[in-house]
Amino acid sequence: MYNNKQVTIVGAGLAGLCSAYFLINKGYRVSIIEQQKSVALGASYANGGLLTPSMPEPWNAPGIFSQLLKYLGKNDAPMLLKPRYLHQYISWGVRFLSNSNLSQYKFATLHNMKLAMFSLAKLAKISEQLEGTFEYKLNGTIKVFRSTQALEQTLKRTRFLSDNGLAHEALTTPQLIELEPALEDAQSQLCGGIYYPQDATGNARQFCHALARYITLNGGEFHFNSDVHRLKVHGGKIYGVVTNNQEFDCQSLIITAGAWSTELLSSLGINIPVKPVKGYSLSVPAKQSKYMPQHAILDDEMHAAITPLGKQIRLAGTAEFSGWNAKIDPSRIENLWHFFQSLMPNLYANSNRHESESWCGFRPMSADGLPFIGGTHVKGLYVNTGHGPLGWTQAAGSAFILSQQITGGVAGIDASPYQLRN
Ligand SMILES: Cc1cc2nc3c(=O)[nH]c(=O)nc-3n(C[C@H](O)[C@H](O)[C@H](O)COP(=O)(O)OP(=O)(O)OC[C@H]3O[C@@H](n4cnc5c(N)ncnc54)[C@H](O)[C@@H]3O)c2cc1C
Repeated sequence: MYNNKQVTIVGAGLAGLCSAYFLINKGYRVSIIEQQKSVALGASYANGGLLTPSMPEPWNAPGIFSQLLKYLGKNDAPMLLKPRYLHQYISWGVRFLSNSNLSQYKFATLHNMKLAMFSLAKLAKISEQLEGTFEYKLNGTIKVFRSTQALEQTLKRTRFLSDNGLAHEALTTPQLIELEPALEDAQSQLCGGIYYPQDATGNARQFCHALARYITLNGGEFHFNSDVHRLKVHGGKIYGVVTNNQEFDCQSLIITAGAWSTELLSSLGINIPVKPVKGYSLSVPAKQSKYMPQHAILDDEMHAAITPLGKQIRLAGTAEFSGWNAKIDPSRIENLWHFFQSLMPNLYANSNRHESESWCGFRPMSADGLPFIGGTHVKGLYVNTGHGPLGWTQAAGSAFILSQQITGGVAGIDASPYQLRN
């Protein structure tokens, strides 16, 4: 059944597992090397669960510099710059800011949206194949607004997206409550919303575990507790990796090590400007009731979202530039509880803090807001990372593009905006 093509993948998060899925379906043998004891223990563990072509804007929008200065050191800011970690972001930060001009911002927004739409179509197909193994719902998301000015500004920006295929519907507050009755108790704070019917929601960790079962059943191998320290190259071609406990030979290697990818690649002179940007989430058990939302609800100003995922509510968001500091800052979690309370006071009042899980993870954030998908100057060495806040949304599409590049197939989308660049 197998041909002699073999691919090794570093990292068992969304990017690595989706890459393995498509390659296995093409008859390739796949080995996945992961430093943790299981899959989805990096950024893919408890993300916001949002699958949102409607949120393609990179975080370095024009004007970001003055906004970041305003947020500096403020613990309740949606984007938190911790001064003692700033030195870790200097050269990346210069690129992040220099890419915040209007033309790069529009370019990244458009190509993020195209990749997100492409990806959701691929994910829908995977979900048919893996039917019922992970929480997945295609019923749109809702953005809410606390000021008319913010709503109007977003509607203005959305025109550019709708010209390129994004469906949306502006809602008055009564229309918002009709569509999502769970927002009824918050209506006095709201000035309307926007509904995005093409968006979906899904549980990324369940999806990763479902993919891991599929990969194993189809002959793929996992090597857990294996931390890749070094990549072996000879004559301009990759031929192996060295981990903390063994060496692996390989014909082709994909680096899908999330925010850790940059360091692995830099030893070969491959420079991808990707940095960890920490985010938080809270998973709150919730029973079905009239207060349970039926859609994911996003608050742009807060950079936060509430997502119903089966029997739980996922609250997620905020960005913290604090290097590799993996400590959970209780005040950031408290911000998520406040956000929950302000939008869904009844559900909040009935939730049990002791049964809820707090989490933080590192988004692999590129300096220009677009991911890196494709080959490097080292023959046989590929990269699929840098998806930042869109890594779940773009996972299936990115992996499909890369698998087509490796196997010589047609991507079905212009993949040039995602190829490696400095
Ligand atoms: C709070 C938060 C909320 C988010 N919400 C959303 C959302 O709602 N929608 C959305 O689209 N995206 C969201 N994201 C982004 C998304 O979760 C990430 O972009 C995505 O999970 C990245 O997947 P990945 O596979 O690239 O990285 P990861 O999931 O981090 O996987 C990388 C893997 O590589 C392994 N690894 C690293 N180095 C090595 C090494 N040297 N050797 C072996 N293994 C190694 C790691 O252990 C890890 O398992 C969110 C992120 C966060 C943090």
